[in-house]
Amino acid sequence: MEGVYIENPDRIWDRVLEELEGGKKDRVLRLARPVRLTDSVLTLAVPAQFAKDIIEERYVSRIGEVMERELGKPVEVKLIVEPEAGERGEIEAEEAEEKEVFDSNLNPQYTFERFVVGPSNRIAYVAAMAVAENPDGKTYNPLFIYGGVGLGKTHLLQAIGNYIKKHHKHLKVLYVTSETFANDTIESIKRGDPLSLRNKYRTLDVLLIDDVQFLESKEATQGEFFHTFNDLYNANKQIVLSSDSPPSQIASLPDRLRSRFQMGFVTQIRPPEFETRVAILRKKSEELGVELPDDVVNFIAEAIKTNIRVLEGALLRVVSYAAFCGSDITLELAQDVLRDVIAEPPPVERREPITISSIQKAVASYFKISVSDLKSGKRTKSIAWPRHIAMYLCRQLTNASLEEIGESFGGRDHSTVLHAINKIEEASQTDEELSRTIRILMENLRG
Ligand code: ADP
Ligand code: MG
Repeated sequence: MEGVYIENPDRIWDRVLEELEGGKKDRVLRLARPVRLTDSVLTLAVPAQFAKDIIEERYVSRIGEVMERELGKPVEVKLIVEPEAGERGEIEAEEAEEKEVFDSNLNPQYTFERFVVGPSNRIAYVAAMAVAENPDGKTYNPLFIYGGVGLGKTHLLQAIGNYIKKHHKHLKVLYVTSETFANDTIESIKRGDPLSLRNKYRTLDVLLIDDVQFLESKEATQGEFFHTFNDLYNANKQIVLSSDSPPSQIASLPDRLRSRFQMGFVTQIRPPEFETRVAILRKKSEELGVELPDDVVNFIAEAIKTNIRVLEGALLRVVSYAAFCGSDITLELAQDVLRDVIAEPPPVERREPITISSIQKAVASYFKISVSDLKSGKRTKSIAWPRHIAMYLCRQLTNASLEEIGESFGGRDHSTVLHAINKIEEASQTDEELSRTIRILMENLRG
């Protein structure tokens, strides 16, 4: 339970910083932004889990102490992770301004200026820009942007919204996730009040709907969405959609919606190329006010390939960690900090290729005999049986001919080899013990 709002958190947060930093700016602490202060809870937003972990571990109790002294009563300190948490003040001011007019549900941080363009996202960017400059519902309508997680779909949709709000002030823009849209629909059905829903959506000039793959299999929502879509479309209102896959691949999307989604322009954002990842890291570190050595940038860009959110997270972690330790950002430090983020590189050459000789060694060691026994003329069962198995494995696991195999087993002829192989093949159909032995040997050999 949180009590009533009592004080501007910024002022009291300044006192906390003063006390905890003792004159030297602490980069990790500076990542935190006080978002709310009630009589019993201070809520801080940080841009990454890493910062949350560190602040919780090292600072929360001391923040609590300072707060308690300032306010004369215990205060709980809560941390929330908001990836877009940035310079404090800025966001609140712009948001407050927006709310007075119409809540477009836009985060002012997501702009075209902050979007790094490369071959992987250029077409989507250009199309988004075209729609933002010309939201007449004729350019690309709908614009459909698809791509994997963390590749910038939300960023682009929001950038369109922010741009239109700035340059076409008279237009009514709304950004929603498909989940919000679904919830609104379900609510209105429950309340028996479809008009409020229609008022909300069908009076828009620009509708930005994020992650439409979640519209899948929600029939009531799909129906309502279909009508909303048609109304807006027929009135030349701009619609922009995003999804994790192209319309053709969204399972259980009804065909009528699928074909609507395909009417305009469908474009993909692919994972960024190395150069784009480098450019993104450069831009983000600039925004953080730090300079990264080239080897660190290359290392991070090499390590994280498929998700820009993760790329950002890794950067933040390195920067925060270095700030925290008061050390320079070096390659060693980055490698150390990102150890658990980086996937094991796939083994290049896994092991020696399987050869007759490696099979002989494996079989001999399994049966605790010697390789020369296998090659010898000995016919006792304890030697002949492993020899048969070894020949069988040579046939199964190498390209060697019967002659070659015979040659390698003390110069036996190919019919002897064939006979041995057939024997093992047949026996393994019924002999559990034998088939288990073969399985184990094959597994060992394959590594
Ligand atoms: P998606 O919606 O595709 O999952 P987001 O738009 O949420 O991805 O992007 C994830 C994070 O990566 C956001 O913080 C976003 O600002 C950032 N990002 C993605 N693409 C770019 C880009 N091209 N340039 C700069 N930042 C980007
Ligand atoms: Mg998204």
